[in-house]
Amino acid sequence: MTLAETTVFEALESNVRGYCRAWPTVFDTARGSWLTDENGKDYLDFFAGAGALNYGHNNPVLKQALIDYLIGDGITHGLDMSTTAKRRLLEAIRDLLLVPRGLDYKVQFPGPTGANAVEAALKLARKVTGRTTVLNFTNGFHGMTLGALSVTGNAAKRAGAGVPLVHATPMPYDGFLPGDDDFGWMRRALDDNSSGLDKPAAVIVETVQGEGGINVARVEWLRALAELCSARGILLIVDDVQMGCGRTGPFFSFETAGITPDIVVLSKSIGGYGLPMALVLMRSELDQWAPGEHNGTFRGNNAAFVTGETALRHYWSDNRLELATLAKGERIHAHLTALTEAFDGISTRGRGLVQGLVFEDASQAGKVCNIAFELGLLVETSGSTDEVVKLLPPLTVTEEEIGHGLGILTRAVEIVRDAH
Ligand code: PMP
Repeated sequence: MTLAETTVFEALESNVRGYCRAWPTVFDTARGSWLTDENGKDYLDFFAGAGALNYGHNNPVLKQALIDYLIGDGITHGLDMSTTAKRRLLEAIRDLLLVPRGLDYKVQFPGPTGANAVEAALKLARKVTGRTTVLNFTNGFHGMTLGALSVTGNAAKRAGAGVPLVHATPMPYDGFLPGDDDFGWMRRALDDNSSGLDKPAAVIVETVQGEGGINVARVEWLRALAELCSARGILLIVDDVQMGCGRTGPFFSFETAGITPDIVVLSKSIGGYGLPMALVLMRSELDQWAPGEHNGTFRGNNAAFVTGETALRHYWSDNRLELATLAKGERIHAHLTALTEAFDGISTRGRGLVQGLVFEDASQAGKVCNIAFELGLLVETSGSTDEVVKLLPPLTVTEEEIGHGLGILTRAVEIVRDAH
């Protein structure tokens, strides 16, 4: 096999580049759950654009809608002008996501990244409540801009801010303190006016922490959090950037817990085709923005509106994708559980099609990912010490592909274990 030509990347592209180091090849084409590099080698993708490709690469249904739209000279860039594509998307959001779930949300289009949406949500919560502090959770991840970093746990990422990260107070996520009486300390601190905790504007939480190590919050924990927020007049923001759009089964990850957040942020797969788009959903009485108060040039990626709308209509008109995701997740979970029984020092956790293999010896997780790459499977690590191999296949992954991917993963674990 010839080595991929990578000179220009190494010579010209900033040192900040990351994934290309873990996967040292040059990818050329992709379809469904597969990428192909310039040497013609195929890789099964259990990474799915970090959750931006829930419907797979170049999904043919979404691609056709996009091609038709482009050929018809549909608007590509529209700021927040009203367009036909945006109308159709908003109608799909209303009819397929909000009305069936009894959700009374207004829809904001911030800039297209997850961090853009998180920033908008934090600003809105502060504006509406007139308070400044936000409570976040240990191991949480919300993006790289300053506001999003202030509610993110990872020390290395926080250090990159270069300024003090303020107005956020971390609380223990579910499972962070074994034996913790859920929210006992938080409740006490909120109620004691000498605790030193300023009354917060909002709490921001992921129902499953993706970057933080596939930490799954129990539904009772999420319910207790929602009740505590509601009782104390604190806004609950669910960051569904990675776990939304069906990743854990239902469209919104918080549906499993039966809670209704005050604000929801979505990005990654909401655009449907890997095209950038983000949304902030807010209870209608919280929509206290003044016109143009929060803006941005790229809030009108109409191509993403088309593929996002098509994805909603094609995949979310019934519950088939949800049921399939849960069934595929069960299958992967059963396989990973068998692996944990076969090898010491490994455990597993996850929900739906986000599953993790957790290594006591963190270095082994990275080695497993490297070997998986050589064997033709893309998986990345997550967690505070990169101790978790994270499985995040497209939701459209086939049973055959799951078998193939799990076969490679098992082989990679065996190779790493044999070397010890
Ligand atoms: N929130 C969560 C939960 C995420 O997983 C991510 C990205 N991994 C973000 C926010 C930030 O999204 P982006 O990288 O698009 O800014």
